[in-house]
Amino acid sequence: MSGAGRILVVGLGPGPAHWLTPEASHALDIATDLIGYFPYVERIPAREGLVRHGSDNRVELDRARHALELAKAGRIVAVVSGGDPGVFAMAAALFEAVDHGDDEDRAVNIAVLPGVSAMQAAAARLGAPLGHDFCAISLSDNLKSWEVIGRRLTAAAQGDFVIAFYNPASRARPDAIHAAFKLLRELKAADTPVAFARAVGREDERIVVTTLGAADPSICDMSTLVLIGSSETRFIARPDGLSPWIYTPRHYGAGR
Ligand code: SAH
Repeated sequence: MSGAGRILVVGLGPGPAHWLTPEASHALDIATDLIGYFPYVERIPAREGLVRHGSDNRVELDRARHALELAKAGRIVAVVSGGDPGVFAMAAALFEAVDHGDDEDRAVNIAVLPGVSAMQAAAARLGAPLGHDFCAISLSDNLKSWEVIGRRLTAAAQGDFVIAFYNPASRARPDAIHAAFKLLRELKAADTPVAFARAVGREDERIVVTTLGAADPSICDMSTLVLIGSSETRFIARPDGLSPWIYTPRHYGAGR
């Protein structure tokens, strides 16, 4: 094994360059190889000395093994994810590969470089919806059953957490978001604040602020992050047609 090889697991943030950390940016400058889902790999400009290995989104473990092989051969491999690499992304796939790998894999130098996750970017646009306890749930189609999602949603509603949905519009299971809203409407008040934050930070950003009762979940696509308030999450109405702020007070029970 060449001693110089290593893996940098890089979070690219939600989109714009100003949400890329200086540490992540430096990693992209020194990498010899880029590995990731091809839209993310394409975000990084081509340069001499950088080999880009874009791949489809269903091959995370293959990608992780590829990164380990390249690092063991002495390459500096940036494994890229949108947002934070530890949130529904490549860092876990990489460690799964190491966990199932051999001693040589375990010796590989790996650093995980955090990024701004979609729920943080969305929350920043809206005000402060994540000001108190919250949870994040992926509605991704292929990694767990609806039974598990339903159980977690029920627990999240009963625990009165603010809920962030990632992957709300999965192609293979487009009805998941509708089923999720149906379940939450049975458990939570109709005036609960809800936001659909699409492509936050990008040119086609679109934020829709509404309530659980009035929300139309069919507006979700693969670039949408959905936030559902707790019983404490509140709107602050603003004048002149401005979108209301949404926030969740720091003290539970203070707003009652
Ligand atoms: N690691 C990523 C999440 C990957 S899952 C992170 O930390 O953000 C992909 C999901 O993230 C998308 O389906 C969408 O729900 C959300 N997402 C990613 N980028 C987004 C953006 N710019 N605006 C809104 N949601 C986004």
